[in-house]
Amino acid sequence: KNLVVAIDGYSSCGKSTLAKALAKKLGFIYIDSGAMYRAVTLYFLRNQIDINNIEAVKQALEKIELNFHSRDYQSHILLNGEEVSEEIRLMYVSEAVSPVSAIKAVRHDMVKQQQRMGKSKNIVMDGRDIGTAVFPDAQVKFFMTADPKVRAERRFKELQSKGDTQTTLEDVFENLAHRDYADTTRAESPLTRAEDAIVLDNTNLTEEEQLKFALDRVEP
Ligand code: C5P
Repeated sequence: KNLVVAIDGYSSCGKSTLAKALAKKLGFIYIDSGAMYRAVTLYFLRNQIDINNIEAVKQALEKIELNFHSRDYQSHILLNGEEVSEEIRLMYVSEAVSPVSAIKAVRHDMVKQQQRMGKSKNIVMDGRDIGTAVFPDAQVKFFMTADPKVRAERRFKELQSKGDTQTTLEDVFENLAHRDYADTTRAESPLTRAEDAIVLDNTNLTEEEQLKFALDRVEP
């Protein structure tokens, strides 16, 4: 049977950094489920889809094809064949993603695709509902947290390194707080820790320490 490692947690907790490192070490496929919600959001923004119009949302979903191609355990996402990995990280997408990911039809569609990807392969998937809704039977589950200020600083540095000089640290802090609130209070699979998930607070841990912590639990 194939192995599934599920990593859930709040925004900008370092889930993808750990997931990538773990996938590389184990030779598993890394899947960034957040990138899928972001790519759908980008499509909705570009095509001015009214998210309150459920028919419009469903029609749009039918026109969206998402594909991953992984190079060096970095995840690259293709939206209808176009590489959008960089664009989906920009602030204007981060600001629009929570309401899109709260739509039942959107989640239904994404979860179905995610389950297909983890059906026969060894994968590490990170997100908000991987250990609860997507793969409730995942063999290993982590739930990541970190101090909100530390998280905002990390994401801020990342945006700056990408050349974003507009967004302030306060903007990032507010966006994270807002997304955490939206993600934990939405009706459809809200972000919660699965009962059997191992909590990993990485506020004071280096990337190497986190990797060791996780590896010790995947291959005891
Ligand atoms: O992980 P990332 O921050 O890129 O995710 C972007 C957004 O996508 C989250 O704030 C959340 O609203 C949504 N998301 C989700 N379920 C997942 C992954 C992401 O609702 N499994």
